Amino acid sequence: MSDSLMPVYNRAPLAVERGEGAWLHDTNGVAYLDCVAGIATDALGHAHPRLIAALTEQATKIWHVSNIFRIPGQEALAQRLTEACFADVVFFGNSGSEAVECALKAARRYHSVAGAPERIDVIGFAGSFHGRTYAAINAAGNPSYVEGFGPPLPGYAQLMIDDEAGIAAAIARPTTAALIVEPVQGEGGARALSGAWLQRVRRLCSEAGVLLIHDEVQSGMGRTGRLFAHQWYEDAAPDIMCLAKALGGGFPVAACLATREAARGMTAGVHGSTFGGNPLAMAVAIAAFDEISKPETLAHACAVSADLFERLAALATRYPDVIADVRGKGMLIGLKLIPNNRDFMVLARDQRLLVAGGGENCVRLLPPLTLTFDEAAEAVARLEAACAEARGRLAQAA
Ligand code: PMP
Repeated sequence: MSDSLMPVYNRAPLAVERGEGAWLHDTNGVAYLDCVAGIATDALGHAHPRLIAALTEQATKIWHVSNIFRIPGQEALAQRLTEACFADVVFFGNSGSEAVECALKAARRYHSVAGAPERIDVIGFAGSFHGRTYAAINAAGNPSYVEGFGPPLPGYAQLMIDDEAGIAAAIARPTTAALIVEPVQGEGGARALSGAWLQRVRRLCSEAGVLLIHDEVQSGMGRTGRLFAHQWYEDAAPDIMCLAKALGGGFPVAACLATREAARGMTAGVHGSTFGGNPLAMAVAIAAFDEISKPETLAHACAVSADLFERLAALATRYPDVIADVRGKGMLIGLKLIPNNRDFMVLARDQRLLVAGGGENCVRLLPPLTLTFDEAAEAVARLEAACAEARGRLAQAA
């Protein structure tokens, strides 16, 4: 591997040449069934014809203009997004971290312009992931991402998801600005929060005048079978929501959505981006949105997810010594393992199946929403072969 890259990634020894649907082909011509999908990014699979058409058509017109001009694609995509959820306004960025950064800035600024500048505290949760900027690592508080990067930023604290009393007390504090949570924790290991949890926190935040931020960077854009994960539940919608990953179906683009009220501090000059929402990104994201938001796309994702969960539950009963739990929601699925998850990912790769890692010793299955029933069956068959190999190794080690 190249030593001219900053070695910040644990890379698998696999160089991809091309992809098609749920399949990746490496530079040696070997085909892999891709249940990583760019970590929940390639929601429509690889090389989707509609995305290719949108990208190539836009490429001949205009790639980039500054946000000092109107960008019609932004207006069109913002209209689609706001019509599809609680939000009134959208800011476009390029990555999930940037969407989170915008959400946190909007929340503090909201209180500042409302005459309560002392409200700066952001409540986050153990096991969460919000990205790699300073604000994002401080909001999630994962020690391995924070340590060595200087003093912690003021105004960030994390609670346990099940600490009901602590959460209520923190929301009620007069210095609290916002609470940020992933409706389904992704990197934390496909942990889906209950509707009751999301509704309770929604109610507490409303009562206290605290802004509720949902980080749907991973759980949004159809991943759970609804356009946004919180839409599974009544009365759970946030004030601010972060999107990225599948928003562009693989093209880098992100969005921070908010109610007009929550965004009232975000006035001209207080925030911005050079590339955010450029015409090329907008053209692809509009095509991705129109495809993902189709009722039939979401219904298909729900049906294949149900099939996958059934097959995986049966697999877990056949391999209780390998799989401790099957969890998650929709096409954001976690297998909590007994053998080491990183070792298991290698065994899966040996079976030409790609899965992602996750917290709590999980591997995640994040296939394209377009995965067919046959491909779902094939993925589980390959997982079964990896389980058999893992069992053999456990027996050898014993
Ligand atoms: N939030 C969540 C929930 C994520 O899963 C991620 C990426 N894994 C991010 C934020 C950060 O996104 P990005 O890597 O695009 O900055």
